[in-house]
Amino acid sequence: MPANPIKDPAFFSLLLKIDRATADELRQKGCPECGGPLHWANYARSPRGLPTGCGTEHSTRLSLCCGREGCRKRLTPPSVRFLGQKVYVGAAVVLYSAMCHGITLTRIDQLHHLFGVGRQTLVSWRKWWLNDFVSSRFWKWGKGRLSSPPDTTNMPVSLLERFAGTLSERIVQLLRFLAPMTGTPAPSSHAF
Ligand SMILES: [Zn+2]
Repeated sequence: MPANPIKDPAFFSLLLKIDRATADELRQKGCPECGGPLHWANYARSPRGLPTGCGTEHSTRLSLCCGREGCRKRLTPPSVRFLGQKVYVGAAVVLYSAMCHGITLTRIDQLHHLFGVGRQTLVSWRKWWLNDFVSSRFWKWGKGRLSSPPDTTNMPVSLLERFAGTLSERIVQLLRFLAPMTGTPAPSSHAF
């Protein structure tokens, strides 16, 4: 696998496989409201940050809809590929934000030239990790699942360090950790 996993289509195939398995597991459980059958109701996204060689299946957000008349509840399963409404794929938000740690404007410029991610985008991701993310309901719940609390001034580097393995493996584990915040409706016991 290349040094930068998110330039590798195989890395995204792995993430797609994880999303499909998660969504299919939910589908088989049936509608949480009425017990009716869940059908695929996928929709198109236009994510940025995908490497060349990724087909249209990588731009599809997996989604489910109850088939029972009068219910028709829509469920969007947790995803390791789409981080909420962010335009870039989740892996890019994680990896490039981590590379931004301790950044200076020069470093932001270098990243911008290397990966083509806009300066404003990099700055907004950094704000999101350091402010929005650490004050989110998800984080209040999620941090309890980690072996020890990471340094919240150093996100998402400190989060990546909570997981073991190669860089690719750690990104996958971090995306799995974040996935519950990407699904709707969130499990009722921890609605974010
Ligand atoms: Zn239903």
